[in-house]
Amino acid sequence: MRSFLIQGASALHTGDAEGAIRTPAQGTDVRVRDGLIAEVGALAPEPGEAVVDARDAVLYPGWVNTHHHLFQTVLKNVSAGQGVPLMPWLEAVPYRYGPLIDEEALTVAATLGLAELLLSGCTTVADHHYLFGAGVGHDPASVLFGAAESLGARFVLLRGGATRTRSFATGEHPPMPHESLGQMLGSLDDTARRFHQPGGDAMRKVVIAPTTPFYSSTPDELRELARTARRWGLGLHSHLSETTDYVRFAAEKWGMRPVHWCAEHEWIGPDVSYAHMVHLDDSEIALCGETRTAIAHCPQSNGRLGSGVAPVQALHDVGAVVTVGVDGAASNEAADMVNELHAAWLIHRAVKGAHAQPAEQLVHWATDGGARALGLTQVGRIAAGMQADLALYDLNHPRYAGHHELATAPITAGGGAHLRRVWVAGREVVRDGAIPGFDLPMWLARARRVVQRLQQRTGVIA
Ligand code: ZN
Repeated sequence: MRSFLIQGASALHTGDAEGAIRTPAQGTDVRVRDGLIAEVGALAPEPGEAVVDARDAVLYPGWVNTHHHLFQTVLKNVSAGQGVPLMPWLEAVPYRYGPLIDEEALTVAATLGLAELLLSGCTTVADHHYLFGAGVGHDPASVLFGAAESLGARFVLLRGGATRTRSFATGEHPPMPHESLGQMLGSLDDTARRFHQPGGDAMRKVVIAPTTPFYSSTPDELRELARTARRWGLGLHSHLSETTDYVRFAAEKWGMRPVHWCAEHEWIGPDVSYAHMVHLDDSEIALCGETRTAIAHCPQSNGRLGSGVAPVQALHDVGAVVTVGVDGAASNEAADMVNELHAAWLIHRAVKGAHAQPAEQLVHWATDGGARALGLTQVGRIAAGMQADLALYDLNHPRYAGHHELATAPITAGGGAHLRRVWVAGREVVRDGAIPGFDLPMWLARARRVVQRLQQRTGVIA
């Protein structure tokens, strides 16, 4: 791959925890060669080198979205799921519609969800897909990895699923698909052999991710899954303590806090990440810090479902790895990392005061933090030798006029991202706010047909 120079950015955020913002006086030019960042500084073009004009723009590492459910892209704003908290929402939306997600619905949902993420500057997506088992009729891993490859995104399959399912099933509500532990392990083995790349620069990874530790498998199976993941060199992921229901369930059934119970079942450590963790006590926060366990913070979904605000600063302060995810579009209504960070910036200040939550720290969590949690050690920072996953935000828009501090303007100003370019491993995947070669009208028409079909199947429309 030829080299190119991104030259003249108004500011650059490296993704690091400290001293992350570089100004033009410090040099904001980035040379990309063979998919890697070759140099950062005040650089002149080499003879014949292509130059990307980055004036009036700011350069960030691409976002790493650590928790998503792409299939929910076709389940946004379902009216039965409005105005209810997590459990009735699960029943009304993912458990109601999940069994109806066929190959066409998943293909459309994954493609448009990934496109939406790319158009917010997100270059790595970790998708928690949990529709596996009898009756599914297609291979979700092939569909998801295929959609990511077609758009050029780095993709981590958080391979969910359940050996037993909380059944909201009735005559008219089919049950969620589920499988035996043997089927789950066999399928995981096959998926990992086909798709998993072990390196810190992987384009594809597989993580073992039962849907929830409490409800998706037995305690013995959970321990078996943790041991299998470590034997195979795969990470571990699940949902945890999203609402007070988790805390109450663990207290009543086992007389323990959820994080301590998971730790007893070997589900703790630097290879484990949990989505949400809204309701933690001080001992759980300390344990996550000691063990370098990661959180996928999903502030918009937690706000949308009224779940609360996760103690991410406290987790960060004791050494836990904080990352950011958008969660499924059915409890967010969008899949936009800039929106997510803008919301986080506001929500933590609303709760803790104006001193809380610097925007620079959010960028660090959503880039380097996410990459480390996923084992992508060569992703998430702008430094020589790292993967060239980069997003160049154009500031030529009324929204950014008048900003004195440009480096964090895309986060503090919020709203839809204005992307001049996005690259994954040095390959251009977004140019001037669009995905080259992507037939958006065709995909939108297919999405409308999928939504109509789902509404007919569930009797919402005739
Ligand atoms: Zn989730």
